[in-house]
Amino acid sequence: MTMPLDPSADPGRRAWLPCPCCDHGRDCPDCRAGRTCGRHWQYLLGNSASTVHLQCPSCLYVWWHDTRPGATRAA
Ligand SMILES: [Zn+2]
Ligand SMILES: [Zn+2]
Repeated sequence: MTMPLDPSADPGRRAWLPCPCCDHGRDCPDCRAGRTCGRHWQYLLGNSASTVHLQCPSCLYVWWHDTRPGATRAA
C-alpha cells in the first residue's frame, strides 16, 4: 500500500533522519557521515514538543520521531 504525499509536505522544510522503512541513505557516504545530503532527506510535516512528524519522499512512509536522546517511539 502506498500512502499519498502529505499535503503539508514542503521541500523547503526538510529533516535529515534515516527512514525506518527504506533506509534510503544506508549506502550513501554523505548520509553515513551525518551530513545534510542533497538526495536523502525527509519531509518535515510538523512537530510537537520534541517529536517531529516526517514523511520519506522515497517510499512515502510516515512516522513520528522523538528527537530526545535515547527516546524511541513507534508510529
Ligand atoms: Zn523511506
Ligand atoms: Zn545520502
